[in-house]
Amino acid sequence: MDEWMDLNAQAVQQAAQRLAGQAVRTPVLRSAAIDAQVGAEVFFKCENLQRVGAFKFRGAYNAIAALDEAQRARGVVAFSSGNHAQAVALAAQIFGIAATIVMPADAPAIKKNNVLGYGARVVNYQRLSEDREAIAQALAREQGATIIPPFAHPDVIAGQGTAADELFSEVGELDALFVPLGGGGLLSGSLLAQQGRAPECAVYGVEPEAGDDGQQSFRSGVIHTIEPPQSIADGALTQALAPITFALIRRYARDVLTVPDSALIQALQLVATELKLVIEPTAALGLAALLQGRVPVSGQRVGVILSGGNVDPAAFAHYLTH
Ligand SMILES: *Cc1c(COP(=O)(O)O)cnc(C)c1O
Repeated sequence: MDEWMDLNAQAVQQAAQRLAGQAVRTPVLRSAAIDAQVGAEVFFKCENLQRVGAFKFRGAYNAIAALDEAQRARGVVAFSSGNHAQAVALAAQIFGIAATIVMPADAPAIKKNNVLGYGARVVNYQRLSEDREAIAQALAREQGATIIPPFAHPDVIAGQGTAADELFSEVGELDALFVPLGGGGLLSGSLLAQQGRAPECAVYGVEPEAGDDGQQSFRSGVIHTIEPPQSIADGALTQALAPITFALIRRYARDVLTVPDSALIQALQLVATELKLVIEPTAALGLAALLQGRVPVSGQRVGVILSGGNVDPAAFAHYLTH
């Protein structure tokens, strides 16, 4: 049986129980100015205010919580462009176990320093030439540790789904939900939550235009792999969906949309000025799709997941002024 067939809204509820008292129940914010600009009622789920500054804490904590004692004691290994790394490092620290994180040498300094701050060990690799999964697997074998993947894992997906689950439970049914899409853990989990809580809601994944592997895969019905993409959305630079996320997205998502980097900057500026929030470019994907009018939402109740807020201050200042 395919591993995803077991995965349903109940797995999200179980994750929510594990995360109670550990994850922040992040606020849902509104802006009259943004509503007027988009022509819809927009509900922002503010995962930039989650622990480690991104929803990834949810999946990482849930996956480590699901291990048995003996597995957990041997530690965990993760490979990540940033937020998943911080999430695994913090979750491991909470459980009092060792974590080794394989990170791209060019990852933002803020993300690397945070990982080190949570007491994890960092191993660098070259994003364009080295295979991070192979490096992580070798490290895990040496230590007898468990790899916590960034998206291709049922417990990670179920944990990520708790953000959308909280959104639906707080604001009720929505007509549409816009979710940033990298490897598809957040979107897959959000779809499971939607199945349980808001069956009429149309859920869209949103990718950077330069990294449209998810759209190609969704629309063609087979997983497409692309060259390493170049975009300011550094949390969505994955080259391909995993079989488990692809299966869930194909089955339950309404569509996968793309936006140019210029729209991410516009959305990030709007969130900063109207919601007074710091978000990273990847977190701007959902609002960018609304601003670009990618699907008609006039008069609808619409959810947007602001997925994270980890951005170097100098880069953030640059986006605000360009
Ligand atoms: C990881 C990440 C994403 C993409 O999530 P996936 O589960 O890989 O699709 C979006 N936004 C932020 C801030 C992230 O860290």
